[in-house]
Amino acid sequence: MTADPIELEATPGAAHGSAPLLEVRGLSVTFKSDEGAVHAVDDLSFVVDENETLGIVGESGSGKSVTSMAILGLLPKSAQVTGEVLLRGRNLLTLRERDLQPLRGNKIAMVFQDALTALNPVFTVGSQIGEAIKVHHHDIGKSQLHDRVIELLEVVGIPNPAHRANQYPHEFSGGMRQRAMIAMSIANEPDVLIADEPTTALDVTIQAQVLEVLERIQERTRSSIILITHDLGVVAGVADRVMVMYAGRQAELGTVDEIFYEPLHPYTRGLLASLPRVDGARGERLHRIVGQPPSLVFVPSGCAFHPRCPRAQPGPCDHERPALRAVGDGHLSACHFAEDLVGVPIEEEPEAPVPELVDEVAAAELPGLELPSEEASP
Ligand code: SF4
Repeated sequence: MTADPIELEATPGAAHGSAPLLEVRGLSVTFKSDEGAVHAVDDLSFVVDENETLGIVGESGSGKSVTSMAILGLLPKSAQVTGEVLLRGRNLLTLRERDLQPLRGNKIAMVFQDALTALNPVFTVGSQIGEAIKVHHHDIGKSQLHDRVIELLEVVGIPNPAHRANQYPHEFSGGMRQRAMIAMSIANEPDVLIADEPTTALDVTIQAQVLEVLERIQERTRSSIILITHDLGVVAGVADRVMVMYAGRQAELGTVDEIFYEPLHPYTRGLLASLPRVDGARGERLHRIVGQPPSLVFVPSGCAFHPRCPRAQPGPCDHERPALRAVGDGHLSACHFAEDLVGVPIEEEPEAPVPELVDEVAAAELPGLELPSEEASP
């Protein structure tokens, strides 16, 4: 696969003189498979500033989680990782495991996707949080450790923390387990906190509470947060900037307002147009992005989104990979025709013209699925 160099004329956060807190430059991750090389992450560059929340959004398989694992050096040895991950100017990708260990969980920490699997079922929640502290503070006293665990549980809003600390993960609700995971990840007040789908599988009320906890923690610790999610609604309320990923590549990067009110990439626009609206007409069919995300072994030529893009134009779109380029002050888009989208309302976003084929495939894969006919009344 050939890739044009990324044109980062104005990487937000990179222009203040000193080294940014976290800078990812040209990060690519490839895995071997029987079918061929899997290009999970392809030439990613972005910056996270002090006390900033960057939301990373994309469908499953867009490379969000692999990016976070690569930053933390948690990928298996079989993964081929290239590029740079600079934490205050220090490249984490070149560090040996023994040099990385003191930073992981201390300077840069992660809240994992599934708290039930991430927590060990045979140890109490308190002892697991305590362990996260002891790894980096070997000489901490027993009573000081106990107090710190209780304090952390209190910070993340767990009621009766002294009692809860002695309970096991299965005695916690889903929301409380996720809070316990957050408590563990902030135990050493890291500079960067990566939260990978922290609200998936939680109902909306609990989702809001978990996001509120993250915001509160950021105010208290001044940490920067990378919030990884497939849900645009989650980043809308908490992120400062948003990066949209597609097929392991950056599609668009901008402030929350730029991404939500002036998106300049057809994929971002398709995602936004497909959100249900409270003021939508009764029976109105939701906008959809037709087709499926591509196999990361056989990434389409040119723009990876072109087989699904309603604005694709033969020639540039299927032959030339669009560079990620500045389309505004700090607003970046990887679309050849980004400028044509300026001022075009989301409601006017077309769908790619292949729905019948997609419906047939969906019906074949999901026996029993009844597709609504165009004429069907609600
Ligand atoms: Fe669509 Fe072409 Fe833009 Fe890709 S480059 S998003 S295919 S218009």
